[in-house]
This record gives sequence, C-alpha cells and structure tokens, in this order.
Amino acid sequence: MKYDYDLFVIGAGSGGVRAARMSAGFGAKVAICEDRYMGGTCVNVGCVPKKLYVYAAEYSKQVKNAKGFGWNTEAPSFNWATLRDNKTTEISRLNGIYDSLLGNANVEVLNGRGKIVGVNTVEVNGTEYTAERILVAVGGWPFVPEIPGREHAVSSNEIFDLDSFPNNIVVVGGGYIAVEFAGIFNGLGANVTQLYRGDLFLRGFDEEVRQFAAQEIAKQGVNIQFNTDVTAIKKLDDGTLELSLNNGTTMNADAVLYATGRKPHLTNLLADGITLEQAKSGHLKVNDTFQTNIPSIYAVGDVIGGMELTPVALEEGMTLARHLYNGQPCELDYSNIATAVFCQPNIGTVGMSEEQARAKYTNVQKYRSEFRALKHTISGSDERTLMKLLVDGDTDKILGAHMVGPDAGEIMQGLAIAIKAGATKAVFDATIGIHPTAAEEFVTMRTPV
Ligand code: FAD
Ligand code: NDP
Repeated sequence: MKYDYDLFVIGAGSGGVRAARMSAGFGAKVAICEDRYMGGTCVNVGCVPKKLYVYAAEYSKQVKNAKGFGWNTEAPSFNWATLRDNKTTEISRLNGIYDSLLGNANVEVLNGRGKIVGVNTVEVNGTEYTAERILVAVGGWPFVPEIPGREHAVSSNEIFDLDSFPNNIVVVGGGYIAVEFAGIFNGLGANVTQLYRGDLFLRGFDEEVRQFAAQEIAKQGVNIQFNTDVTAIKKLDDGTLELSLNNGTTMNADAVLYATGRKPHLTNLLADGITLEQAKSGHLKVNDTFQTNIPSIYAVGDVIGGMELTPVALEEGMTLARHLYNGQPCELDYSNIATAVFCQPNIGTVGMSEEQARAKYTNVQKYRSEFRALKHTISGSDERTLMKLLVDGDTDKILGAHMVGPDAGEIMQGLAIAIKAGATKAVFDATIGIHPTAAEEFVTMRTPV
C-alpha cells in the first residue's frame, strides 16, 4: 500500500469517531488521533454532562411541586461536589467505552495532537503518518470576547468542574449554552443573572417561543437582563468578581460564565504551506462530499458549521464513510432537524419558525395552544406551556412545530418523524391523542389563530 492508512481522522468527537468506526467497518484501514478526551465535546464538556446537570437542577422544582401532592419535603439541600464527582465517574466510564468501540472496530487510536504537514500526511507526537485521505473532525472551542479581565471568566469547558458551588453567578450570552446553564444554576439554588446584549435571547428561534421562554424562565427565578453586556471584570480581594456593565452599573458575582459562542478549533492544525478555505465565520468550507479545497482532506461536524449538534456531526460522519468506503451517494438532508434547549421548561422545535414560514409561504396557518399543565392544578406552580403548529394552507403540510414546556425535547422527536415524512395537518387531526398528556394537544388544535 502506498500510504500507512486509507483514512486518518483528526479528532475523536461525535463526527470523527463515527466516521472512523464506520469506515473501518467497511474495510478501510483507519487511524484516529485525539489530544484531549475520547468522545469529544458532547461526551466530556457538552451534551452528556450538561443533561446530567439539567436532571440535577430539575429535582428542586419537583421537590417544590410535590408539596401539593402530599409530600413533606422540608429543607432539602444540594451538594455540588457529589454531583460533580459522580458526573466525572460517569464520563470516565464513557471515555473507556469510546476507546474500546474504536479498538473493537480495528481503528488505531493515537493519543496526541494532530497536525497536517502535507496533503496526505499528519504528524502526531513527532511521528508522521501518511493516509490516502485525512478527515478533519476537530470540532469547536468556546469564544470569549476580548474584554479587560476575561481571564476571570469561565467557559463551558470549565463550568462543570468548579471547585466550589457559585452562589451568585452571572451568565453572559443568549444562545443555547447560556440559557441552559442559567437554568441549571438556578435550579441548583444559585442566584443567577443572565446578561444578553440584544433585545431578546435565542436569536433564530421562533419569536413567540423566545418571548414565552423568557417569561417562563424569569418566573423560575433567573434574573434576565436584555440589552446588557459586560465591559470589564475585576477580581476583588475577597476572591469575588466585580463586573462593569455597559449601562454604567456594576454587579458582583462568585463566577462569570461566558457562553458567547464557539469557533472552529483550528489552532496549530495546519503546517505552513497548507491552506484550507474558510468561511467568514472561520468554519472550513466543504463541497457536497465534505471535501475541502484540498481534495485529499475532508471535514465534518462543528468545524464546518451549520447546525452544530451531535446528531448532525454523527450523520455527516456516517454519510461520508458510506460514500467513501461503501459506494453510496453522499446525500444528507438537512431539512427539519429537530432541536431542543434544555432550559426549564424545555424548548423543542422542528422545522420553520413563524417568521421563516411567513417569509416563504403566502398562506400560513398558525395553530396555537397555551395552557397550565394538569400537574400544576395541584402543584401550585404557575408554569405555562406553549405549543404551536405552522401549516402551509395551500398544501396542508406542517411547516414547523414548536413547544415550550416540560419534556418538549422528548415530545418533539416524535413530531420530527411525522414532519420529515411530510405529514399534513389532516394527518395530525386524524391522529387520536393519548390522554391525559400534554403532547395530545398537538393533535387536538382545530382552529387556526
Ligand atoms: P467535537 O465533539 O468537539 O470533537 C472534536 C474533537 O477533536 C475533540 O475531542 C478535540 O479534543 C479533538 N481535537 C481538536 N483538535 C485536535 C487536533 N489537532 N488533534 C487531535 N484532536 C483534536 N449538541 C446536541 O446535539 N445536544 C446537546 O444537548 C448539546 N449540548 C451541548 C452543550 C455544550 C456545553 C456544548 C459546548 C455543546 C453541546 N452540543 C450539543 C454540541 C455538540 O457537543 C457538538 O455539536 C458536537 O460535539 C460536535 O461534534 P464534532 O465531532 O464536530 O466535534
Ligand atoms: P450560540 O451561537 O448558540 O450563542 C452565542 C450567544 O453569544 C448569542 O446569544 C450571541 O449573541 C452571543 N454573543 C456572541 N458574541 C458575543 C459578544 N462578543 N459579546 C456578547 N455576546 C455575544 O453559542 P453557544 O455558545 O450558546 O453554543 C454553541 C453551539 O453549541 C450552539 O449554537 C449549538 O449548536 C450547540 N449547543 C447545542 C445544545 C443543544 O442542542 N441543546 C446545547 C448547547 C450547545 P447574538 O445572538 O446577538 O449574536
């Protein structure tokens, strides 16, 4: 063989591991290098630990709500170290599973940082390896803007492992991570302030969903301040932080979490003379077959942008492996990808927002339901749920479904299948509900608003 490997994958995260395993399964000789943690962002500092912390946070609400149902739940207390350390144990177990999955698939695992030193050559720990194809699956890295004192802030990389619980925490940003962590720390008992530079957080989501979510999250106790940003952070003698804000005021906190987006993780990836074309955002540009401007170098996952979600990276990795080593076309349909924000209550969404639907279709019908869930008739909670369906009045096709409410993430997955299959409103109407659930509301909304 002319090369050491058929495929050399850089980065053992969601996209890289899946591409490596599947390619090896199709008979390719594959190596993968990873310099930080097996399983990548999702397993180590993303989806998995985040969801464990969301579960932890939701217990406080359940305890509060249980009173009306007869439970005596006096003075429960929360121990950060227990949660943090149990999380670490579980993540170590998953790291081991990823290692053995790759080993069992005959993928050679190299522990170290990969650098592309030639169009067919990657260097790891001083050794050069050649491959017919190189796959860049390096993911992203938190971006923290250049403000004085930024070194005192933490990002999502560090937040899971804080030494002590921050009783007062400021979360900066208005995307998925900021909204989810504001909810986590609020649920765990901290005083949480969320600062977002714009008028309303979660840009890109349905406007009504954003407004409703802001209202519900504020009811849960998060102090949300829109049109507010931090201009400087100072560490005080007692170890706490003083934040200067753009409205001229200051604010004190035990910790500041910056969740102001992520950038492709390209530091030191390319030797001099190797240039991969990048979009303005910094993401690598690829064609329909995930090929960069250098034909032997491919890229998948967060590093190419789009919806930066684990299932998307997995699908890209699988599609590429099938295409390169199993003779299948390189086709991936990015339409109607469901997503959830795991705040309290959850946001679940699939398809178009109302704004997108109205921009594209002339006859959009909107079905909307807002209610207090059955549980809360006794729990005493004033939490409300919002559901929305957007329908093309000309074809009756569902264009988008949105929910803000408990388990919206779980509920939306089923709706995503129906919508992907091209379901019409008539199909929803003909579906008999499951009673009593909140989800049944999606098949009982009869009159457009
Ligand atoms: P990654 O998983 O980031 O993997 C890239 C890997 O490459 C890393 O392990 C990195 O160490 C390694 N690497 C980088 N450079 C090199 C190099 N030069 N040499 C060797 N190794 C290298 N998505 C969801 O779908 N649902 C969620 O609930 C969710 N929650 C999230 C919560 C947080 C806090 C964050 C940060 C992200 C979350 N995401 C979630 C997004 C999800 O984690 C990413 O979309 C996904 O991990 C992308 O996979 P990837 O393979 O592209 O990159
Ligand atoms: P997002 O891109 O979702 O949000 C970034 C936020 O930071 C936006 O509100 C943005 O504001 C704000 N921002 C950007 N730059 C600055 C700045 N210089 N100063 C102040 N605010 C700024 O990124 P996240 O970091 O929240 O998450 C990264 C990605 O990870 C997500 O997009 C998502 O793909 C994925 N993820 C998915 C999750 C899930 O599936 N549940 C959970 C967590 C992450 P503006 O809107 O005004 O630009």
